[in-house]
Amino acid sequence: MKTLLKAAQVVCLDAQDMIFEPGYLLVADGRIHSITSSPPDDFAGTAVDLGNKLIMPGLVNAHTHSPMVLFRGLAEGHSLFNFEGWYNTIRMVEEVMTPEMIPAAVLVSCAEMIRTGTTTFADQYFWMEQIVPAVRQSGLRAALGYGVVELGEAEARQRELAAATQFLQSVAHDPLIQGWVGPHAFFIDNSEAAMAIELDLAMAFNTGFHIHLSTSGEEDRYCLEKYGRTAIQQLAKMGMLEHPILAAHCLTVPPEDYPLLADVPFTAVINPSSAMRNAAGVADACGMLDASINLALGTDNVTNNNSYDMFKEMQIVGKLMALHHRTPNALPTRTILHMATLGGAQALGLADEIGSLEPGKQADLITLDLDEIGWTPRNGQDVYTALVYGISGMHVRDVMVAGKWLLKDGRFQTINYPQASQGLERSYQQLSEKLSN
Ligand SMILES: [Zn+2]
Repeated sequence: MKTLLKAAQVVCLDAQDMIFEPGYLLVADGRIHSITSSPPDDFAGTAVDLGNKLIMPGLVNAHTHSPMVLFRGLAEGHSLFNFEGWYNTIRMVEEVMTPEMIPAAVLVSCAEMIRTGTTTFADQYFWMEQIVPAVRQSGLRAALGYGVVELGEAEARQRELAAATQFLQSVAHDPLIQGWVGPHAFFIDNSEAAMAIELDLAMAFNTGFHIHLSTSGEEDRYCLEKYGRTAIQQLAKMGMLEHPILAAHCLTVPPEDYPLLADVPFTAVINPSSAMRNAAGVADACGMLDASINLALGTDNVTNNNSYDMFKEMQIVGKLMALHHRTPNALPTRTILHMATLGGAQALGLADEIGSLEPGKQADLITLDLDEIGWTPRNGQDVYTALVYGISGMHVRDVMVAGKWLLKDGRFQTINYPQASQGLERSYQQLSEKLSN
């Protein structure tokens, strides 16, 4: 099946920085067949004139916890980056949460991501039996990490790793969902005994680890005391760095360890809103980039982000780096766009499949309304600056993943949003009643 999309502008975000005005993007069997500035000669199929729109690659949200939208508003004034804040808010609620509450929450999360231009997300949580069907319904591409917390307890370790194994088997042949191992945090709530089994799992399923790393320096303190080396150095010694690692936050990675993270499949996922709202710290994005470490961007959970809008996230990381370094555009807009697209794709081993618009790649794309506010003067403000600083995710009008529309002219195609949202409200009500008992 062939579909020819015509739009005022196609911004490819590829290595050549190709931009077509107007642009014709031909989708065939879920992949990009060609991108041209005039219609292909012998085209036979469905033509869609998108009008005054900009087509660009879909965004990759490289770190989140989709069920946690259910807790949005419940942790205000607390930091989830320290044990007390997390235990007294999230852990308390998770203890009374039930699996029936998960599907509506995940559908609301997927709807918010689709509506604001995300086409791929990397999630980490438990209750995958409830998460997977909701993600499949949404049509989003996803890397789901089974979240493991075992705190050194043999029984918890056995139970959690058995569940992780079962989950990895269940998605082994899924066209859009990757299964990852999601140790919540190495050395902190995952013991060395668990890490050895997690390494075997990653090897058996040819996958990687989605972890939280360096939020407060706690794992460095532990490793320095126990092994006489930092956490990164210890991970290198254990062979963990030879496997893909999605490391959320990376606020306190010692710069002397940067070279260990450069030529390995490691990605530092920067979550600027989450780090700022939790008053946690500033990731050294510029320093890590200079050291050739792959960077991606994420929203983290939206409990206290409180938004899935990756356009906001791009804007915030740019402003944060400028302020932090007292240097305007310390992180160039093109680099920020790379973090939100190809950087995330590379993190998931999908750099040849998604992350830029190029013939042969998957048709994962979004359109933005050029009649909306924020773009003009279009000759004055370059398009990368407009994308990062001028507009928001609410400019998104259409979303396609693997050639299938998930959002068409602002309308959801795979999710009944009012129904999911009402389900979430009911779950929240149940949670509140349980908490007050
Ligand atoms: Zn997180």
